[in-house]
Amino acid sequence: MNRAIYPGSFDPITNGHLDIIERAARMFDEVHIVVMHNIRKKYTFPLEERIELIQKSLVGIPGNFVVSSYDGLLVDLCKSEDIYTVIRGLRALTDFDYEFQMAITNRQLEERVESVLLVSNIKYTYVSSSMVKEVAYYHGDVSDVVPSCVLSALKREFEY
Ligand code: ADP
Repeated sequence: MNRAIYPGSFDPITNGHLDIIERAARMFDEVHIVVMHNIRKKYTFPLEERIELIQKSLVGIPGNFVVSSYDGLLVDLCKSEDIYTVIRGLRALTDFDYEFQMAITNRQLEERVESVLLVSNIKYTYVSSSMVKEVAYYHGDVSDVVPSCVLSALKREFEY
């Protein structure tokens, strides 16, 4: 079976992530969406809620998905799952440097790891979890760029 891991913070999941997930689901028999702990980031939504929002957002999307979390090196997750294909998304050139560094680092750590960088629909080029939270913080409208369950979670979090 052709399987891939899509790791990320998903704090929270956006339509940009979902666009990448839909593309990945057309390419792979099973896509493992894994909420990773990134030591550089401070999270808004607790891990359990990020997982729950992903699960709810996947309803109706064709494909086989496994949603989980992992606190450790991505390459160790790849080894334990025996999945060596890693999906990442590219928005604009600004993502490229970081994603390139990550891909090279992961390959240095475990040479079987292949990174597949997918480009989302142009509608989502400027959509990121941090941008969504910034707009929601000031009670701006993000209904076009997040699934409805995430919109409700943002409204609760930022009280509007
Ligand atoms: P991380 O902390 O690992 O960067 P994110 O949840 O921010 O986690 O992103 C996970 C992956 O999804 C990254 O590869 C990121 O570039 C990609 N991604 C996020 N939003 C979009 C989008 N709007 N279009 C394409 N890729 C995206």
